[in-house]
Order: sequence, then structure tokens, then C-alpha cells
Amino acid sequence: MKFSVLTLFPEQVKNFLSESIIGRAMEKDILSIDCIDIRDFSGNRYGKVDDTLFGGGTGMLMQCEPVFQAFSSLYDASKETKPHCVFMSPKGQVLSQKKAQELAKYDHLVILCGHYEGIDQRVLDEIVDEDVSIGDYVLTGGEVAACVVIDCISRMIDGVLPNSEAYEEESHMSGYLEAPQYTKPNIWHDKKVPEVMLSGNHAKIKEWKRIHGLYDTWKRRPDMLEKLEISAEDWQKILKIDKEDS
Ligand code: SAM
Repeated sequence: MKFSVLTLFPEQVKNFLSESIIGRAMEKDILSIDCIDIRDFSGNRYGKVDDTLFGGGTGMLMQCEPVFQAFSSLYDASKETKPHCVFMSPKGQVLSQKKAQELAKYDHLVILCGHYEGIDQRVLDEIVDEDVSIGDYVLTGGEVAACVVIDCISRMIDGVLPNSEAYEEESHMSGYLEAPQYTKPNIWHDKKVPEVMLSGNHAKIKEWKRIHGLYDTWKRRPDMLEKLEISAEDWQKILKIDKEDS
């Protein structure tokens, strides 16, 4: 999969994504992430890409033309179809695992980062397919948000993680949270790893994880559980854990 990030701060994005799992996926050519500096398309020798707001207001707004030229440099409009363009924006649909799964289907995804007061609406109307937010708060720029989106999508691309189980069993993938996890030693500060985890019985371990995942979801995120149809039998198991825990 190819990501093209349109930004005024390419180093911020490059630095974050060049490490760890995503960095290794790039080295293996499973992913490519190009950061395009919008300032290179300023059209003036000062590299100026923003101006004051019509109608008044504090701060500066990124202008249409540099953003449009940076986007146009990514494909040949006479031969290729326009790549899907996501604008990082606090006004967008809030990122979820489902949204990331949808975005993972594109071969080429363009991520546009705003800065300062944002970007002139007219160029957004022309090139952007959808706005995505990473939460109901305002950041200084779209760069951190772009890194979050790319990281979340990349984990689901074949070859980035050792196998699909590595992400399919994680929180949010099936609409509920992951069960608690344990590693060596078996006993730490008098706390034992649950017996079933050491049993080697894969069916029992799977069931333990499923029910404890549902239990944790009920305790931490009841809003998520409301969207699932929990059988009476599963509720009994969840309530049994609750009784044992209290
Ligand atoms: N004036 C804008 C508003 O009130 O909607 C906020 C501009 S913000 C200071 C600058 C840029 O940061 C935005 O254009 C956007 O690209 C990015 N940004 C800020 N908050 C974000 C969020 N929650 N999710 C994604 N991007 C965000």
C-alpha cells in the first residue's frame, strides 16, 4: 500500500513512521510512505503558503494553489484516476477500527494535513474525498493525526505483522476489548497467571479470552457492549466472573 502525506512538516511524519514495525514494513517494501512538502509548491521564492483570513479572525489559512499543486503532482490526471484523499480535520468522522479497515482497501491513499487555522475550503471541496478526525479536540496540525491513521491502517496490511491473528484478536476488531494478557514469570508479586493459560487446551483458552474480553468491555466500555447481541448463556458467564472478582 502506498501513502502520500501532504504536509508543511514532512520531517515530523517521517521521523515518527521510520521506526519499529512500520519502519521495517517500509524497508521490506510492504508499505511506502512519501511525505510531500506543500511548501515546495508555493510558487513564490519565500515559500509562503498561507495568508490572513477573509472576514477577519486570528491566524493564517493555508492557500488553495500550493495544496492543489502538491496534490496534482501525485498522479497524471490524463491517465490515472484521482487517488483517494483524506483530510485530517477535527470536523471529520472520528477514526475507528472500522474506518481504518475501510481505508486499508485503497492501494494509494493521500493524507492531507492542515496547519495554522486550516486550509481554504475551496481546495478541500475540489480534492478531498472525506475528512477524518482522531478525536474531539484540536491539534496544532494534521501531522500527528496522519501518523495515527497510517499506523492503525498499516497493522492490517498483509506482511506488516507476523500473521493476521496478531491484529484480528485485538481490541475493537470484533466490537469488544481484548482479554487481559500474561507473560513469564508464572507468578509475580504473588499474582498467578490464570490456570487455563498454562493448560495447553487451546479451545478452553480461546473461550476464556472471549468471555474475559466481553467482561472487560462490560466493565470499561458498556457503550460498546450495547451494540453486540450477548446471549443469556454468555451473560451468565460474565456475571460469574464479576462475582469472583468482587
Ligand atoms: N480551525 C480549525 C477548526 O476549528 O476546525 C482547526 C485548525 S487546527 C489548529 C490545524 C490543523 O490540525 C487542521 O487543519 C487539521 O489538519 C489538524 N487537526 C487538528 N485537530 C485535529 C483532529 N482532532 N483530528 C485530525 N486533524 C486535526
